[in-house]
This record gives sequence, structure tokens and C-alpha cells, in this order.
Amino acid sequence: MIDKKAFHTVSYGLYIIEALDGDGRKVGCIANTFQQVASNPPTVSIALNKDNATSKAIRATGVFSVSVLSINATMELIGRFGFKSSYDIDKYEGISYELWDGGVPYVVEDCIAAFETTVQDTLDVGSHLLFVGAVTASRVLSDDKALTYEYYHSHLKGKTPPRAVTYIEETSTSPEENETRLKQAAKDESSDVKAASSSTARIGWRCTICGYIYEGEELPLDFTCPICGAGVDFFERIEL
Ligand code: FE
Repeated sequence: MIDKKAFHTVSYGLYIIEALDGDGRKVGCIANTFQQVASNPPTVSIALNKDNATSKAIRATGVFSVSVLSINATMELIGRFGFKSSYDIDKYEGISYELWDGGVPYVVEDCIAAFETTVQDTLDVGSHLLFVGAVTASRVLSDDKALTYEYYHSHLKGKTPPRAVTYIEETSTSPEENETRLKQAAKDESSDVKAASSSTARIGWRCTICGYIYEGEELPLDFTCPICGAGVDFFERIEL
């Protein structure tokens, strides 16, 4: 048997994987699968879902870069690169980034180091492609600590997008169950207000993916996060 919980014991970091597609357009996504696999020559690997725009771009051009996310990275940056598609938006718009000599971008905002890599080999591993590449340039960007996957889940309350290697389908929540949950939360909030009539606390809903806050006592059931596109399942009620 395969106990999926065993996979939760594996440690990872979180990285932005970047490339230029065949048309010279900057694309990128977040992955937890970057690692060094040899010291001489300096060699790394990443695994990306075959359907990702970034995966297709790397396959077309044979070059990618990696930015190591800081523990202080904002959920907005993580949401933009991790939960939106480069097919739909320019993820680099308004973001601080630089270019390697070959023109491949690397995000410097909220990142602590970056690598430029040329693909040496590509292995088809089912849902994902494993790219093995030689590092052609690297630089340190900050003294911050690296963001780990464990910290992302435990402290930032981040979620795992379905295309990630480590995605495990969560216990499904039906629309009815979700509606019940939201109504109960609103009811609890109403009780809280009655219990503390002198309190002037305002209520909002926080997107657990990117941190966006919706101000208001009730979150519309069809609401989606304007930053990362997450649905109401990913919102938690907070006091502002
Ligand atoms: Fe969001």
C-alpha cells in the first residue's frame, strides 16, 4: 500500500522557476522540487507539471532560472507565481526582477539567491517532467533565511495547488457543506458581537493562499480572490 501521509514527512524549499517561452515571453511558476544533484559540475534538477507554461517554455528553449524564496516573501508574490497561470497574466508586471546575460528573468523581490541553468537532460516521470541542468551563473540576493515548505504550510497557512508534485486531494467540501460552514461562521460572529457589545471589531475574510483581505461580515458564496483566484473554501474569517 501507499500511505500518502508518508510524503508529508519530506522536507522541501519553495522556489520560483523562470524561463522565456518560444516567443520570448517571460513565464514562471512556483515549485518545491528544486535541488542540487551534483557538485562537479554544479548540477541541479527541478520537476514541473507537463501542463505548466513554464514547463513547456523550458522544453522549448532549454534554459531556466531559479529564484530561492525568502522566509519573508509575501503571500501576494506566492499567490501570483503559484496560483495563477502565465497563460493568463504577465506575472512579472510590477515585480522586481533582473535578467541573466541570455535574457532569462529571475525575480529578486523577496528572494535570497538565484541560479541560471542550461538543461542537460529531461526525464518524463508521468504527470511531471524532471529537468536536469548545469548551473551557468548564480548569485546571492539577501541574507534572509529560505522559505521552507513546512513554514509555508504551518505559519503562512498556505495551500498546495493541484499541479504541484506534492498535491494530495483534500477531503472534498461540497457546496452545501461550505455554505453551512460560512453561515455558521457568520452566526458565530453575530454571537461574538452580541457578547461584546462594546466591541467595535470589524470583520473580514482572509485568503489563505495569498493573504488578500475581503472586508465585510459575509463573504459571497461565489466570491473568488482578486489576487490569486482562490474560491471561498480558501478564506478564513478574521477580525480586522
Ligand atoms: Fe488569494
